[in-house]
Amino acid sequence: MKQWMKNVRKVVPYTPGEQPKDKNIIKLNTNENPYPPSPRVRDLCRQIGDLRLYPDPAASELVEAIADYKGLDKDQVFVGVGSDDVLAIAFLTFFNSDRPILFPDITYSFYDVWADLFRIPYETRPLDEHFHIRKEDYLGANGGVIFPNPNAPTGVSMPLEEVEAIVAANRDVVVILDEAYVDFGGETALPLIDRYDNLLLVQTFSKSRSLAGLRIGYAMGCPDLIKAMCDVKYSFNSYTMNRPSILLGKASIEDEDYFRKTVDRIIATRTWFARELQELGFHFPESRANFIFASHESIPAKSIFTAARDAGIYVRYFEKPRIDHYLRITIGTDEEMRKLLQFLKTFIENAK
Ligand SMILES: *Cc1c(COP(=O)(O)O)cnc(C)c1O
Repeated sequence: MKQWMKNVRKVVPYTPGEQPKDKNIIKLNTNENPYPPSPRVRDLCRQIGDLRLYPDPAASELVEAIADYKGLDKDQVFVGVGSDDVLAIAFLTFFNSDRPILFPDITYSFYDVWADLFRIPYETRPLDEHFHIRKEDYLGANGGVIFPNPNAPTGVSMPLEEVEAIVAANRDVVVILDEAYVDFGGETALPLIDRYDNLLLVQTFSKSRSLAGLRIGYAMGCPDLIKAMCDVKYSFNSYTMNRPSILLGKASIEDEDYFRKTVDRIIATRTWFARELQELGFHFPESRANFIFASHESIPAKSIFTAARDAGIYVRYFEKPRIDHYLRITIGTDEEMRKLLQFLKTFIENAK
């Protein structure tokens, strides 16, 4: 072993879902939105502006558009390159205690990766048998708390009173709520940020705004939290937000009608698809996200996953304790979901 290797950070990276090149795949594996982004975004793509020049390191136009939209001041908003970037910076900024940070055992699988990378001690708390986060588990001493609401990959949403109880019991540390899916029927904790200076909310343009490819995420919290994150970001890379992202992200925020229309369409498809899934013998917790986390009464998830993949339909399967009999199915268009249901009907019939 070479001498320098002893000091290399050794980490097990997050495994993203597959991004197949084949355009014919029905792609329901990474919670992308099946609808295009706002037409305003498309039109602007043709006149992106001067790429010779560095972008505004503060991404002010985008920060201001988000702040206006959410009814906040601009010093309450931080933007980054996808919410993964925002979350990583938040971990680095706020989770800096000898006490362990806490998150659920079944949750977004990037949290333990960042904790390992940044040498942050952590402990997980098991979800209950219905896949609900137990708020009592987060009330004792800790170095910080992070969880998604709705949770991923379960889609289960926590009521605001319970969220508030966790935030109120943890005034000495930062509580990060990852609201990646909140627009699909969850309950945002935005009304709490003026009362709790230890609460940071993180949202993204990747799911509800159909812009996963652009990479825009943002955090909202009290000005002191936002300033602390900016200080860390500027110690790392000033120009993280590129010119096109700033311009196109702003256009997306300004098209509320289109946003509502596509989000409502996905919620309607989810409601219909959930009933159909149930008829086929699947069970799942109620989802407030753009996916359903489902298990079949008799057929193992892995065999459905593999057969669906062979049929050109990608869903997500996690070979992990407690959830290895579940599939996470992204809500696509009605047509995509009809094709999936057709496949499932035939597959289940043949398996009998
Ligand atoms: C998709 C997702 C993210 C990351 O989203 P990006 O903004 O695309 O980086 C963060 N948290 C959760 C829970 C997610 O599902």
